[in-house]
Amino acid sequence: MKYNPLDELKKRIIAAGGFCNTHAHFDRAGTITPEDLNETVNNHLFEKWTLVDQFKSSATQSDYYENFSYALTLQERAGVSSALSFVDIDPVCKYHALNASVNAKDLAKFLGIDLKIACQTLKGVIDSQPRQLLENRLDLIDVIGSLPKADRGKEEEHLDIVMTWAKETKKRLHVHVDQMNSAEEKETELLARKTIEHGLEGRVTAVHSISLAAHPKAYRDEVYKICKDADLSFITCPTAWIDHPRSEVLSVGHNAITPIEELVENDFLVALGTDNINDIYKPYCNGDMMTELRVMLESTHFYNMDELVKIATINGKKIIS
Ligand SMILES: [Zn+2]
Repeated sequence: MKYNPLDELKKRIIAAGGFCNTHAHFDRAGTITPEDLNETVNNHLFEKWTLVDQFKSSATQSDYYENFSYALTLQERAGVSSALSFVDIDPVCKYHALNASVNAKDLAKFLGIDLKIACQTLKGVIDSQPRQLLENRLDLIDVIGSLPKADRGKEEEHLDIVMTWAKETKKRLHVHVDQMNSAEEKETELLARKTIEHGLEGRVTAVHSISLAAHPKAYRDEVYKICKDADLSFITCPTAWIDHPRSEVLSVGHNAITPIEELVENDFLVALGTDNINDIYKPYCNGDMMTELRVMLESTHFYNMDELVKIATINGKKIIS
């Protein structure tokens, strides 16, 4: 009998209670169309944040429920036992996605999945309209979600607002940071500094932190020290960013992925997510957590099985509620 590490890894994940998908957008799952595949999918990330308005403006609560139902069925097949999905709350879709997600929790339970909800802030939190919509429903969400770049140029102000919500509601905070794989971004550092300023140590999770890997080691080590003081945790969504387009900008040699091998070495909690499923962001993503784990371990040369099992299972459960 040959030894097959991948088989052992799968068995140990099942024994540990199944996968925890810590970052997803189930509200948009299954919205990709054949036409999108030829055109829309090639747009820049920032343009896609607006392009999803086409679906959002016409989608009813039942359309959103269908997306949840589709995603949850895929997740059950992928061996997921707990998950956190962001849901859009903004003037375009109002509470349709949120209301559907609340109903979808029963379906998730039936499928053996503990489903938690976070708010996505695609229209920012500084303008009063989206801010009001979000503030009026914080009681219905499990985790405060945030996208500082939605308030471009005012990222600090954005973080001050969502961190105030996190303090007032005593809920955890998950923030999309450093998504562009560029040494020009320093959002992980900003998030850590703001976490300390607001006294939210141990309550904040950085989602992605891809650009960290594009910086020189001296800067990364400096950021790890600040993140340590902030007791930040991290979520990696490997296939969501490994597709980052080739660029002529010279940078430190790295794969476009959260530098998880360094994070684990520095004793940070690292967890795993799929991000988008079958939508204009990630048309071919089917929510398979084993694919995410495999891409993560290969692209970072990280083979420590004990840690891989933790990243796929219990680490996530600690930060999604
Ligand atoms: Zn996301």
